[in-house]
Amino acid sequence: MPADYLFDPAPVPAVPVVGEPRLFPVRRIFCVGRNYAAHAAEMGNEVDREAPFYFTKSAHALCLSGATIPYPAGTEDCHYEMEFVVALNRGGAEVAEARAMDLVFGYASGIDLTRRDLQAAAKDKRRPWDLGKDFANSAVIGPLTPAASFGQIGPQRIHLVHDGDTVQDATLSDMVWSVPEIIAHLSRFYTLAPGDLIYTGTPAGVGPVYPGSRLAGGVDGLAPVCLDIAPVG
Ligand code: MN
Repeated sequence: MPADYLFDPAPVPAVPVVGEPRLFPVRRIFCVGRNYAAHAAEMGNEVDREAPFYFTKSAHALCLSGATIPYPAGTEDCHYEMEFVVALNRGGAEVAEARAMDLVFGYASGIDLTRRDLQAAAKDKRRPWDLGKDFANSAVIGPLTPAASFGQIGPQRIHLVHDGDTVQDATLSDMVWSVPEIIAHLSRFYTLAPGDLIYTGTPAGVGPVYPGSRLAGGVDGLAPVCLDIAPVG
């Protein structure tokens, strides 16, 4: 007998998969901070080579590619961050680096929208980043491509075009922490599970979006991610 809830539970956030009619149901969204040295430098930080660090977004912050969203609430400096997203269909804790890729279902192009002014204020006051990072439509994602169709992570270009200008342009091999290193490290703190997404950090070139902005991002071998910010009505 189905559970008797007080009200309808929220629908499961899910991502389309290239060449597959079924959707990928999203459980949690982990994000890696400062995973490209050039981006860390542009933000006035150094990469901590001791260990990666993370923040999270609610699965309900997911926004599928192709959407037009209102300019996010509560900010006057919303930034784009183009990212390579890893999707897990297996779980585990204390996963060995050599086994980490066994957890990976596939990859997607994504954009980590960030309320930079709120994040900066939080940093100044040594407060959590949630207001800056976890908000409606802040985890933008394109369709997932199964890992077998993508091949080895390395030379693929990752780039973002904002209103016709290429603003971010790097290769996945520029990542400080590799995907298996991230999965192995993260699994020491969380029991990873099917449905988990990992946004693996952004290259240099982050910047603000405006009402009417159009973002189009890509990673070689993956479906693109596109987003429009609604013009002021
Ligand atoms: Mn990011």
